[in-house]
Amino acid sequence: MKIRDILSQDTATISFEVFPPKKSTDFENVEKAALGIAALQPAYMSVTYGAGGSTKGHTIALASEIQRKHNVPTVAHLTCVCAEKDSIRAALDEMKTAGIENILALRGDIPKDFDGEVFTDFTHASDLVRFIKENGDFCVGGACYPEVHPDSANKNADIQGLKAKVDAGCEYLTTQMFFDNNIFFNFMYRVREAGITEPIIPGIMPITRGVQVKNAVKLSGCNVPERFKNIVDRFGDNPEAMKQAGIAYATDQIIDLLANGVKHIHVYSMNKPDVAAGIQRNISEILKA
Ligand code: FAD
Repeated sequence: MKIRDILSQDTATISFEVFPPKKSTDFENVEKAALGIAALQPAYMSVTYGAGGSTKGHTIALASEIQRKHNVPTVAHLTCVCAEKDSIRAALDEMKTAGIENILALRGDIPKDFDGEVFTDFTHASDLVRFIKENGDFCVGGACYPEVHPDSANKNADIQGLKAKVDAGCEYLTTQMFFDNNIFFNFMYRVREAGITEPIIPGIMPITRGVQVKNAVKLSGCNVPERFKNIVDRFGDNPEAMKQAGIAYATDQIIDLLANGVKHIHVYSMNKPDVAAGIQRNISEILKA
């Protein structure tokens, strides 16, 4: 099933993201966790792609297994930085064979330790979006950044980059994580003002371990509100308490988004079925309201 068809229905949805293992020997454990999340029957699941294409086979295998064993539609992420057209064409063929109908098209970042040839076939995700559209019947999504992508000169340039991605054929956008909903609401205002009408799905990251905050900020540069810093300061050293507080904080963000008219929520569930289940349980009636 295409994600655009799920998003066009009149019901609120929750979806989950998982990441594939780097090593084949870890595949079984990750698959078990991903299938545990799929058993919750979210509207769809997305499977990330290792930087520079390092997990291609695992991404496709995991996405395919989730669909096959639980009938949950999946989105396979695909990055184009360092890639040449032939390798992307081959990845698209593999996805078609595996029954994958949805792709999150990303530029990606060149990994620090990358020692392969850096091809320049694709400069931006918009180039990849166009290429995918020309090479198959996929529903294509993309990424967006409520706190502005670090490569953008300013908010306007960032929105223009986003507009180029949508004009290339991107059908929906999923946001980078954020911990302050006002940042998302301001971003939505700028996006809609620029004439971008495609669905924007907020990506919510439940922080369930103190150390995760540092990584999240380093990776995304996102702002951490004082209220959340206090939670991490107080409970960060107590794993069970931090997990409960992290689920509660993410739930609170999600309820606020839904109460303000957002219909679709994507949760960065980090391969943790208990965290995904906790959030889903907390909003089960709210999703139906
Ligand atoms: P782009 O859309 O190309 O944007 C990068 C910069 O270029 C931005 O500043 C943008 O404004 C600008 N820009 C874009 N198009 C144009 C244009 N046509 N002309 C001029 N400027 C332009 N990384 C992974 O390695 N694997 C993953 O699975 C993965 N999943 C992600 C999922 C989500 C929801 C998000 C938010 C990020 C994900 N990332 C992933 C990280 C992402 O690859 C990085 O943030 C990367 O730096 C940018 O990728 P992008 O697709 O947003 O790039």
